[in-house]
Amino acid sequence: MLPKINKIPHGSYLCGLMAESRTIAFHTLGCKLNFSETSTLSRQMENDGFVKREFDDLADVYVINTCSVTDNADKECRQIVRRIQRRAPESMVVITGCYAQLKPKEIAEIPGVDLVLGAAEKFNLSHHIRQLTKGDSAKISSCDIEDVSGFNASWSINDRTRTFLKVQDGCDYNCSFCTIPMARGKSRSDSIANVVKHAEDLAASGVKEIVLTGVNLGDFGKGPDGARTSQEDFYSLCKALDHVDGISRYRISSIEPNLLTNEIISLVANSDKFMPHFHIPLQSGSNEILSMMRRRYKRELYADRVAVIKSLMPHCAIGVDVIVGFPGETDELFQQTFDFLHDLEISYLHVFTYSEREHTKALEYKDVVPMNIRHNRNKALRNLSYMKMRHFEESHRGQTRKVLFEGHSKSGMMEGYTDNYIKVTTTHQMGFVNQITDWKL
Ligand code: SF4
Repeated sequence: MLPKINKIPHGSYLCGLMAESRTIAFHTLGCKLNFSETSTLSRQMENDGFVKREFDDLADVYVINTCSVTDNADKECRQIVRRIQRRAPESMVVITGCYAQLKPKEIAEIPGVDLVLGAAEKFNLSHHIRQLTKGDSAKISSCDIEDVSGFNASWSINDRTRTFLKVQDGCDYNCSFCTIPMARGKSRSDSIANVVKHAEDLAASGVKEIVLTGVNLGDFGKGPDGARTSQEDFYSLCKALDHVDGISRYRISSIEPNLLTNEIISLVANSDKFMPHFHIPLQSGSNEILSMMRRRYKRELYADRVAVIKSLMPHCAIGVDVIVGFPGETDELFQQTFDFLHDLEISYLHVFTYSEREHTKALEYKDVVPMNIRHNRNKALRNLSYMKMRHFEESHRGQTRKVLFEGHSKSGMMEGYTDNYIKVTTTHQMGFVNQITDWKL
């Protein structure tokens, strides 16, 4: 949903940015990685003397952290800028994130935009804002994605219950539908020592659960310049984190099936801290389509990963990403995907409708699937997901599992998740917030 911007009395509202109390507001489009980066940017700016405002309120600077995966990133971005223009015409507008890296010129032409920051400059926000003058034409600070290097650690902290900690960025894979490598660059990671230090600091600030986040997490271990020079890999990272005191729970946000090794599965199965929960992108249950997508596995490998997980952890939650309507996906090939998922012991699906992206290989493919068929397939898989989720929840009915309750209160209710990612809702009770509680399902 697009944010509203309230018209409020100006207060410290100003157009020159050299005055003392500058206010700044952020809006994030897209994934958890973007959220963790916005969160870090906002802390950086507060350390640099800016005062944070809600995006709905008036601010001297508005920053929109964009996404290239959402279908209508440009439309959404334009609408938000227009809204800012109407309500706060003298405020500075900065656009960063994946869309800003992919289409800087297009964004700079949106009326009201003052600054476009590409992937390499995102974390130099404060420096760039200080150089800005409202009324000048939009400034672009961006370089070719091949030249982007370095790693900026980021984490989101909402109510201090759980945090999304970015440990890896970029991707060296070349899936034919994906623009992320063009927007985020080559695969780079933090060091294990740094991640452990961040986990210790987060534990000291009261965080109980860390969700390890990255673009291609299983590829963890390549340094800030994209080269693998040490023995560090995702398994050794998990092993090191397993020993950090104070963090009770880790989740792995998503991992490619070909990188989900038996070692990692068995570490999760034997750890008290790594939750029995995996999210594994499949994208298609047809080997033909997988090959067109340039994915690095066949459906047999995927089924094998699920079988290994379930043999060690029958209670494990498994989430699956799947794309429908990829070029060449006939009714028969879609049925293969449907049947494959139907028969797999998985818990839920995230279903994406294929949409064309500039500069991707898939754009050259023939046998484009009509949009109405894509939508019908999406609906069919969402229904399947609902059934899978219900089945998973029902199979745990009556069991007692550990739930970490979150702080947010919505209409007097609070939410939490079991170790294996079953959502629990109950009346808000302060005593439950950020506590791990035995809960009968
Ligand atoms: S693994 Fe494929 S889909 Fe995932 S970010 Fe890399 S290129 Fe994109």
